[in-house]
Amino acid sequence: MSLRVRFAPSPTGNLHVGGARTALFNWLVARQSGGQFILRIDDTDRERSSQEFLESILAAMKWLGLDWDEGPYFQSQRAELYRRDAERLLAEDKAYLCYCLPEELARQREAALKAGRPAVYDGRCRDLTRQDRERLEAGGRQPVVRLKVSRAGETVVRDLIRGGVVFNNEVLDDFIIVKSNGMPAYNFACVVDDALMGITHVIRAEEHLSNTPRQLALYRALGYAEPYFAHVPMILAPDRSKLSKRHGATSVEEYRDQGYLPQALTNYLALLGWSPGTEEEIIPQEELVKRFSLERVSLNPSIYDLGKLTWMNGHYLVTVDLEEITSRALPFFQRQGLVSQNPSPKEVDYLRQVVGLVRDRVKTLVEVVDAATYFFTDDWDYEEKGAGKYFTSEAAELLAQAGERLAGVEPFTAEAAEAAYRQLAEELGVKTPVLFHPTRLALTGRTMGPGLFGIMAVLGREKCLERLSRAAVWIRNAAE
Ligand code: GLU
Repeated sequence: MSLRVRFAPSPTGNLHVGGARTALFNWLVARQSGGQFILRIDDTDRERSSQEFLESILAAMKWLGLDWDEGPYFQSQRAELYRRDAERLLAEDKAYLCYCLPEELARQREAALKAGRPAVYDGRCRDLTRQDRERLEAGGRQPVVRLKVSRAGETVVRDLIRGGVVFNNEVLDDFIIVKSNGMPAYNFACVVDDALMGITHVIRAEEHLSNTPRQLALYRALGYAEPYFAHVPMILAPDRSKLSKRHGATSVEEYRDQGYLPQALTNYLALLGWSPGTEEEIIPQEELVKRFSLERVSLNPSIYDLGKLTWMNGHYLVTVDLEEITSRALPFFQRQGLVSQNPSPKEVDYLRQVVGLVRDRVKTLVEVVDAATYFFTDDWDYEEKGAGKYFTSEAAELLAQAGERLAGVEPFTAEAAEAAYRQLAEELGVKTPVLFHPTRLALTGRTMGPGLFGIMAVLGREKCLERLSRAAVWIRNAAE
């Protein structure tokens, strides 16, 4: 039988990095084995679920390249299936209707705690007669459905990461499977769906491990085949607290908008909990598909390290195809108004050259834009410190002469411009930096950046001459 896994987000928020990692692990296992990756939307909480979150989750998954083979299925459209199984359990006397009100349950819990008993439901509605039920319903009470659970013995969860995890059944009680409003509880909908969808491996967050004994009780009561489980470790912030907003970006969307690449986030998230067994850190998606294994997922919490993710992003910025980086960078330039909304092929070609020049000096697409603004606008000032240092009256003269030289360079390439500059320095008897530093400042407004002659070639002759003479004028004005 082929492997079937699922990712089952609730559309009550954006896709968190933890959720993205769960989705990734499922996807890797499916792609590796030629199995199926199913997307299910756990949207039974109608109040907290929204279309907007749903769309944001789907967009984030697509951006990460996590394509699914089936779905999305929506729990909100599967009420009939849950109702059928709940009725079956009732008919087989494996479940019963409970009429206790929330405040009664709270009182029962308090009394149990006082008496030193575990605060579990005491099963008082198990043996209601039909007359009892009719009386309670006539009084306006809406029942919930509870599963009959034996609290004797133990339940062993077979977990592919943790081995057998043993739970004493004392922690269980007759838990609710259908709420008083008729909606299935999480554990129930999850088991019915996982079973009917033929899920063979349930790979999910560690926070659900404690639900698994209840889910196993449901598989057994319903007579469904049990899947394998794998509970992936928690993700903690560097201070070992739960990763949250106050530690910075937590959703895939935010990383995308901050200029991270899906390749980097995928690589980073895979190594957050999984290890290849070597010191390697750069493992692209197609390699991960070959090498990933649940057995090598750690039991320990994973510590989120933004510095490492950013470092990886810098790596992928230079190694991914320039064409792709350019198209990913385009919206960032458009947002700053540096490139038009419908760029011509010529504009895109120019952008490609610019991105090619700056990408090995930065870590994110936002930084690509920062490093490249002067290619698109003249609206900037010279760096003050640099101007004080390099824009001397001697420099004004040198820049004027350099401009004259560049005017005659044919064709106007980086190599030819460099040769002309070196020759000019020699003729004038000055060291090359004396010529190069003010030129860089004149062309870019900055003292640092990519290779000077590469910049010239991309800017083009006209722009270079214009900026050289603008700087010469600026220097003369400043001297007056
Ligand atoms: N909707 C649940 C969640 O997002 C799914 C848990 C599961 O994978 O069983 O936590």
